Amino acid sequence: MHAPVANPPHDDTAFRRDYACYQAQRTGPMIHALMALALCAYLLGVVVRGLVGVEPVQLVWQLVPAVPLLLVAIATRHCREPLTLRMLALLCVVLLETGININGFGSHAGTHQPLPGLLIPVATSLIWFGRWDFLLAMALCALGPLPALLHLGDGPRLLQYAVYMAVSVSLAAVLRAFMSRTLLEQFKLERLLRERAETDGLTGVLLRNRFLDLGRAALHEAQQLRQPTAILFLDADHFKRINDEHGHAAGDAALVALAARLRTQGRRHDLIGRIGGEEFAMLLPGVDTEQALARAEQLRLAVAASHHPGGRLSASIGVAVCTPGCCDSIESLLARADHAMRQAKREGRDRVVTALGGR
Ligand code: GH3
Ligand code: MG
Ligand code: MG
Repeated sequence: MHAPVANPPHDDTAFRRDYACYQAQRTGPMIHALMALALCAYLLGVVVRGLVGVEPVQLVWQLVPAVPLLLVAIATRHCREPLTLRMLALLCVVLLETGININGFGSHAGTHQPLPGLLIPVATSLIWFGRWDFLLAMALCALGPLPALLHLGDGPRLLQYAVYMAVSVSLAAVLRAFMSRTLLEQFKLERLLRERAETDGLTGVLLRNRFLDLGRAALHEAQQLRQPTAILFLDADHFKRINDEHGHAAGDAALVALAARLRTQGRRHDLIGRIGGEEFAMLLPGVDTEQALARAEQLRLAVAASHHPGGRLSASIGVAVCTPGCCDSIESLLARADHAMRQAKREGRDRVVTALGGR
């Protein structure tokens, strides 16, 4: 389903989900580049060992982790699904550690160099989405080469490795902390800017263009599912008089009260937008003519129950419905509702009028 309504409630789960998607979008290309680099570095290590004549195990064994590493690198190219990316990144670490062990088990004491393993925490420090991913990755990095090192039974080398690994993990923790804080701040800022660009500052409902964009998607979806979609076009009655008689601040307060009524009448997937000065629209996916008329009447009564300094507010509401099989665009549906609203004005205001038939 499309993103709902104006003013979505500030929901922690939704925030976290959106942030995870944002992280995946931002760090996905970096993860892919690092995976590709890890593969190249691993293959380079194999080649260099061959050239200098240190071949701990047969070449075919050394190349065992290279194939899944290649597949992981390919899989991360277009993947932007947060969970899959996180799993692939962890899998890459497991494969690299496997490679280090394969080479380590074939070495003799004094020849095994787990140095590449010391680079992995720092090299990957920026890609771990959550704290748990990071801790798990660091544990894998720290413990990964241990089987091979213990197998060699070289105590001083083990101690040296532990010290260097502690430095590497600490450095990674610092880098990750700064990176994740910067990314989170950037996400919040972008979200705020987007919200400001999409919602009306006075009433908090969607601005016209955003309403039309989301409405277009919702209408298209309902048409695909052969479900009806209704639209209510609401225009406050004699609004100019409020401004003229009580001042623009009172007019603004009346608009805020009007938008609040619309919101309380809206349901989860309804869209509410400010189309112009004192004109609002409400898109109701899955609602047929009969239900739309009932909702419009409820809305009219709710508006009539709100007051402004000059007396009670009232509104004229036009209703248009796109029945299953109709091919209305959001613009034509809105135009039909507008036409019905103007008919309501002509008939005396404070009423609901429906446009004829869905097209
Ligand atoms: P009708 O019943 O025919 O709709 O009459 P009306 O007075 O509501 O219609 P008209 O279009 O003549 O006036 C709309 C008024 O809404 C004019 C404008 O000053 C006022 N208006 C538009 N936007 C705002 C706003 O953001 N704040 C305030 N206070 N007034 C606004
Ligand atoms: Mg108007
Ligand atoms: Mg008006």
